Amino acid sequence: MRIAQNIRRLDAYVPGEQPRSARVVKLNTNENAYPPSPACAAVLKDFDLDRLRRYPDPNGMHLRQAIARLNRTTPDKVFIGNGSDEILSLAARCFVDDGGTIGSLDPSYSLYKTLAAIRGVAWKPSKNVSLFLWTNPNAPTGTLAPRDAIAAFARTFKGVVLVDEAYADFARANCMELATAADNENVIVMRTFSKSYSLAGLRVGYCVGPVELIDALYKAKDSYNVDAIAQAVALAAVRDQKWMKANVRRIVRTRTAFTRALETRGWDVLPSESNFVFAQPPAACGTAQEVFDYLRGRKIFVRYFPGPLTGARLRITIGTDEQMRVLLAALDAKGTRRR
Ligand code: PMP
Repeated sequence: MRIAQNIRRLDAYVPGEQPRSARVVKLNTNENAYPPSPACAAVLKDFDLDRLRRYPDPNGMHLRQAIARLNRTTPDKVFIGNGSDEILSLAARCFVDDGGTIGSLDPSYSLYKTLAAIRGVAWKPSKNVSLFLWTNPNAPTGTLAPRDAIAAFARTFKGVVLVDEAYADFARANCMELATAADNENVIVMRTFSKSYSLAGLRVGYCVGPVELIDALYKAKDSYNVDAIAQAVALAAVRDQKWMKANVRRIVRTRTAFTRALETRGWDVLPSESNFVFAQPPAACGTAQEVFDYLRGRKIFVRYFPGPLTGARLRITIGTDEQMRVLLAALDAKGTRRR
């Protein structure tokens, strides 16, 4: 056989659908409903093509410095990746020996299992592992674990704890101070530009952690993992915190109102600290799968993860107020009216 055994046997990760039609109400992949900072548009408009003739800065130094400043740390503690997905993939290579294991919460971001399989190691929903991926706020649940719980775990844990904070900008609290602490040896905190900064198409993520671990990631990465355009646009986005925070505030406001609206309709909604909710329809509305199919027929896309831990609920991205109104109107038309 020409294909490696672990790849032959792999259950590939299936990302949420990206429909071609713009007419779809797209609430299935936790993208931001609002545009990125106008400063990003300005960078693209004025981008000097001569910079594409050359290779980009292999270490993205300007962006690294800006991210370090933002998080009150030094650039040697910052790694930049081609989306945070690339950082996860590098972590699986850098922090797990052959025969080691990767652990995470369960349910959690389903890519982790696939990454372990590609790396050729086992994945377990357990903390007795070499690398633990702690998604916080978690996905698809949206719930937040207290920083103290993660700190206490890291203190006794022998391996690396990577706190995946893809959704942290939408949360009340985060773990960045664990990553930047002078005595930290094993905590990495990871963020992305895909959600709060509205730049999922750009593919930039970063992580902060002890220099020794960050150096390992730099050793293992592709030479030019983040392209010149991505570095420049992400830099503009980081410098416009005001824009990002205003969008986050709008989404959090919509999240609160939408949660209440679902609850009035008899749904069970987990308390969300992210830009989506994980919610169970009342029996009168049908099963989660039925509601998913019904909404899809009306060109409203949400996410359904079958299986015993997740199959009773739908993960619904928080979009604009208007998008949520369209979704609620569709639910009302189906027959779960206000009680
Ligand atoms: N972590 C979590 C928990 C996510 O939901 C996602 C987005 N699917 C990512 C990481 C990856 O984000 P990106 O590669 O776009 O930075």
